[in-house]
Amino acid sequence: MKILLVADHDEGMLSPLCARLLGAVRAFDAHVDVLVAGFGCERVAAAAAGLAGVARVRVLDDARYADGLPENLAMMVAQIAAAYSHVLFSSSCVARRLAPRVAAMLDVAPMTGVVALLGADRFVRASHAGRVLETVHCAEPVKVLGLQAASFTPMPAPRQAPAPIEPLASGPEMGVSRRLAQQRVAQAGLPALASARVVVAGGLGLGSAEAFGRLLLPLAARLGAAAGATQAAIAAGFAPAAWLIGQAGHVVAPELYVAVGISGAPEHLAGVRGARRIVAINADASAPLMALADLACVGEAEQTLPRLLEVLGA
Ligand SMILES: Cc1cc2nc3c(=O)[nH]c(=O)nc-3n(C[C@H](O)[C@H](O)[C@H](O)COP(=O)(O)OP(=O)(O)OC[C@H]3O[C@@H](n4cnc5c(N)ncnc54)[C@H](O)[C@@H]3O)c2cc1C
Repeated sequence: MKILLVADHDEGMLSPLCARLLGAVRAFDAHVDVLVAGFGCERVAAAAAGLAGVARVRVLDDARYADGLPENLAMMVAQIAAAYSHVLFSSSCVARRLAPRVAAMLDVAPMTGVVALLGADRFVRASHAGRVLETVHCAEPVKVLGLQAASFTPMPAPRQAPAPIEPLASGPEMGVSRRLAQQRVAQAGLPALASARVVVAGGLGLGSAEAFGRLLLPLAARLGAAAGATQAAIAAGFAPAAWLIGQAGHVVAPELYVAVGISGAPEHLAGVRGARRIVAINADASAPLMALADLACVGEAEQTLPRLLEVLGA
């Protein structure tokens, strides 16, 4: 197997999802190159070169890729990917936009939601919000796979000697799309959702945006956690869309997932199955997430969270 792993990165930091994708192929005797594409990628490339299991880091570094827009990157990534048997993407927002474009340019069908690699052409993918697992044979000459990174154990870092870093020549200016503005939706001082070790998420049961600010955010800050939300809470205007966890949003894999006022719909659970421990706080003991939780606390959020914050000294 000759694998190209397309690395996620943001603000000069390599995403921890990269180590998880490497973990997905650790059982194979494979040659794995990591592709880092963007602008000013030195730190990201060095971090990737320090991960175990990497044969080579290939770097596409040019001002024209500064926005990281998939429309501008896809052509070059597809050209590079054509020389590989497998191209691995995570299920991050950027990867989810890039992978289908790259697959289309290679004239192959991408396979997404992959949770296990059983061999070079046999994969397990999750469907129906994680309720169904399908084992699938893929006959495409280049397998373009979107992996649910949360399903895999990360490869360790650092390694003894860094992998070689190879700069690549940039492709033509695509000019297909251009970023006009970017707004980072406030998680001031909180870690990023996709890589957080602790995630505190709220659902409709929290009742208001005000309760998110008064109860959920202080708990997240106290635990050094990222803040997340359900689709229902976001639709109600309680939390920003960027906090969405689930099949349509972030897939998280924290050590601890604290869910407040969340029922545990399958579409939400699809994003939290990688969590090591789940603590659920819900007024209804029979909510599905309560059955799944390692610690289920029956109580009203309004009463339980202030007490919890008090105990934690927040
Ligand atoms: C195609 C599709 C994709 C979807 N993708 C996603 C997705 O990616 N992510 C996602 O989250 N959802 C997704 N959904 C929506 C999903 O089906 C659920 O509707 C949603 O997750 C429910 O959110 P919730 O748990 O906040 O609300 P509810 O299901 O209404 O649950 C609220 C919970 O709060 C509890 N509660 C009420 N009052 C209190 C209180 N005072 N204190 C404590 N607890 C209280 C209730 O007992 C209940 O369990 C998707 C749906 C579809 C159809």
